[in-house]
Amino acid sequence: RLEAAPRVPGKPRHKTREVKVGARVFGGSNPVWVQSMTTTDTFDVEATVKQIHALEEAGCELVRVTVPKPEDAGALSAIRARVGIPLICDIHFDYKMALAALDHPVDKIRINPGNINKAGDTTHDRFRQIVRKAKQKGVPMRIGVNAGSLETEVNLKYGFPCPPAMVESALRYIEVAESEGYHDIIVSLKSSDVLVAVEAYRLFAQMCDYPTHIGITEAGKPPYAVTKSAAGLAPILLDGIGDTIRISLLGDPVPEIAAAFDILQATQRRVRRPELIACPTCGRLAIDLEDIIAKLEARLNGKRLPVKISVLGCIVNGPGEAREADIGIAAGNGQGMIFRNGEMVRRVPEAEIVDALMEELARWESENQHR
Ligand code: SF4
Repeated sequence: RLEAAPRVPGKPRHKTREVKVGARVFGGSNPVWVQSMTTTDTFDVEATVKQIHALEEAGCELVRVTVPKPEDAGALSAIRARVGIPLICDIHFDYKMALAALDHPVDKIRINPGNINKAGDTTHDRFRQIVRKAKQKGVPMRIGVNAGSLETEVNLKYGFPCPPAMVESALRYIEVAESEGYHDIIVSLKSSDVLVAVEAYRLFAQMCDYPTHIGITEAGKPPYAVTKSAAGLAPILLDGIGDTIRISLLGDPVPEIAAAFDILQATQRRVRRPELIACPTCGRLAIDLEDIIAKLEARLNGKRLPVKISVLGCIVNGPGEAREADIGIAAGNGQGMIFRNGEMVRRVPEAEIVDALMEELARWESENQHR
């Protein structure tokens, strides 16, 4: 088993149509893909490829690069040739940059509908030109609505960038794209306000079956930015919404990947590595729990196994949690009762707890490898 299904299924995944982005398929029952964005000058091919490789190494599954200038568009083919994950170009303001980017083998284009159109042009000519070229090239598009850059007419109508305003903006451009016979669409409705983002995604999901890219934009500096992203993305994911995720952290994008996988793991949308359940400790503590957890983390590092391991410091909750986990210990009097698949299998002295857990993990792995 590479990824685990939740024991309590929760809300079913919102049904979305499938859209292919390079080798990844968004929507349907496909995984919620983890993506990020480079911070380099895109035209600096060496620096951009180096950062993409670092992101790939961390587990990033798609990457976006900004294309503000012709030289950035000109670098896309060279970058695409050297990276192994789908490449997305990100366009704001200048529809000509979108057209130029589409001359290169990009896997997806992101358009901000709030700033791409000529003000007052109700024919949406610039957007239509991009849609026609994307359709001709077979490139899918993210219609990336952002609360901070909604088009003027929508802001005037609603007074501020509220969820209905964001959804109306998305639907307006979806309608234009559909009128061109183009349906390879992914939608995002990002806000730096958690409540606005959550309600915007919920509202959109009631009205549309296009896959969504979810994120809390401009979340700021870690660690608060990770907590804020989790606070916003958990309700969306637990509602079954979201087909790809990006965590927006200030600075180096590489930590975004671990943060995204942690949020997917905690919401059980993608459980693919060991989950360690450990108590906070208190005056009842019967073993050196921090030391045991540190050793276990080191031994489990890099393991791709959706296994739940419970390590609790005394017998108050220890046996109960250990029975519910795949593997667990309940500590007492300098020793540990080891559980596997809900049954107590043996007792070991404290010094042998880590080795014993790893042995039980190997047994669990061989028992579960054909599931
Ligand atoms: Fe304290 Fe035991 Fe609870 Fe851990 S499991 S916090 S040691 S009572």
